[in-house]
Amino acid sequence: MLHEYRSDKLKPDLVGMTQPELEIFFGDLGKESYRAAQVMKWIHRGLADSFDVMSNFSKSLRNELSLTASILRPKVLDVSCSDDGTKKFLMGLEDECRVETVLIPGEDHDTLCLSTQVGCQMGCRICRTARIGLIRNLSAGEIVGQILEVRRREPLSRITNVVLMGMGEPLANFDQTVKALRIMSHPNGPQISWRRLTVSTVGLPNGILQLGRVIRAKLAVSLNAVTDEQRTAIMPVNRIYPLSELLGALKEYPLARRDRITIQYVLIDGFNDSDADARQLVRLLNPIRAKVNLIPFNDELDENFRTPKPERVLRFQEILMANSLVAIVRRSRGRDITAACGQLAGGAGSPS
Ligand code: SF4
Repeated sequence: MLHEYRSDKLKPDLVGMTQPELEIFFGDLGKESYRAAQVMKWIHRGLADSFDVMSNFSKSLRNELSLTASILRPKVLDVSCSDDGTKKFLMGLEDECRVETVLIPGEDHDTLCLSTQVGCQMGCRICRTARIGLIRNLSAGEIVGQILEVRRREPLSRITNVVLMGMGEPLANFDQTVKALRIMSHPNGPQISWRRLTVSTVGLPNGILQLGRVIRAKLAVSLNAVTDEQRTAIMPVNRIYPLSELLGALKEYPLARRDRITIQYVLIDGFNDSDADARQLVRLLNPIRAKVNLIPFNDELDENFRTPKPERVLRFQEILMANSLVAIVRRSRGRDITAACGQLAGGAGSPS
């Protein structure tokens, strides 16, 4: 079983600790528990990457912390800028593995798309990350650290929304993902509201049910097909968790009063974009509080599939909307810098 990277030479990384964990850490050093909140604010709000700047700590405490702990952040190795304003950051980790993080500017706020694993084992055919395979899980610190590093480099960014939609399957790295979400939403952390945190999954039913039991994040699911045969052809995970099991888990996912589950549906020409497919999607989603994001396939990802014609996309959308489903056609952002859906993997992966 793969775990997140840990080196024996590394001191504990305070970026990936929740406030209760920091309280234990300071307790073990014989220090007051309020130090936990202070250090958390310095790291996540002050963007401190050294104990030296923590001016409300005595010099001796700063020295002691430097000897016993670390503040680790991924390092930006490269930035690509799209014509549409999207930026893709290639991040280097302590063991020289690399992941990608995408900043998507909006009119009044920005969205950051984070990676949760180096590579991915889910093997989706319409995704470049799948070609790397899974190298390792990210730690909670490495997940949250992507926000800190982008905020440090882009001081004018207004990152209020975070989606776990970059490299990797978040629910296959469940514990570190949940811990990262708790840190992100904490008042002394990066302060991303629960309502603006979205976990995007290929659709692991047990992980979905467990997530609903432990936290309140929003859920996005890549459905992409309306029959098992169709879905298995592009998403091998469907062999293990067929549509009936996935839809059963979605029915049980707890939602706040006005919330809906986001269903991602990549439209592929002649494969899953017919009128009959649209009507079947309406039937499948009937018992679920859902809205649908329609994403025309990016035909650079697999030469065997094609982007549907714009009129087909509109017709598919019309059928969903005529049946009272909220359906939005999503523009692919950052396509010219391979930062769009399914494109992440450019320089990422392991160094070898
Ligand atoms: S689409 Fe997501 S789950 Fe599927 S292979 Fe790519 S990163 Fe993994």
